[in-house]
Amino acid sequence: MPHLFESAPTGRAKCRGCGRPIAQGELRFGERIPNPFAEGETTLWFHPMCAAYKRPEAVLETLAQAPGSVPEAEALERAARGSSAQRRLPRISGAERAPTGQAKCRSCHEPIARGTWRIRLVFYEEGRFMPSGFVHLTCRVPYFETADILAPVLHFSPDLSEEDRADLVRACGDAADPSSSATT
Ligand SMILES: [Zn+2]
Ligand SMILES: [Zn+2]
Repeated sequence: MPHLFESAPTGRAKCRGCGRPIAQGELRFGERIPNPFAEGETTLWFHPMCAAYKRPEAVLETLAQAPGSVPEAEALERAARGSSAQRRLPRISGAERAPTGQAKCRSCHEPIARGTWRIRLVFYEEGRFMPSGFVHLTCRVPYFETADILAPVLHFSPDLSEEDRADLVRACGDAADPSSSATT
């Protein structure tokens, strides 16, 4: 069975990408994968945009097969193309201020100071997204190999206050592109 977009028949499924429920009647994306625990296949359900960021290849493949049939296909395609361009971008699972100073950054291996911004990472493995540590917001360019991370970071940070979102946007704008600052 191919992957699919469909209207959710119930509100019981949770999105694998963000962990929140998918409302009844809302468009959802189903990725068909070989069942890791049994014979046959299983389906992972996502909000379409969550899938575009975290499972971009499956979304692009499905959009290509049914052109014109998915609402907001253009935005989904743009997000999926961006995310598939760098292998680590699908690991982004939002940002938060470090509640303690104990975690170490996966990029520079230095501790992440309490109260500073860090990006949450998840690794996909056999149908599951495993929480896999953090990187400093300031290490985003060496880690992700692009400065263009704000959209998925905000998408997976729905619980931030207005003030924190604004602060995060500001922080991502600062020295986002070292190549441009080197020439000025
Ligand atoms: Zn979601
Ligand atoms: Zn770091």
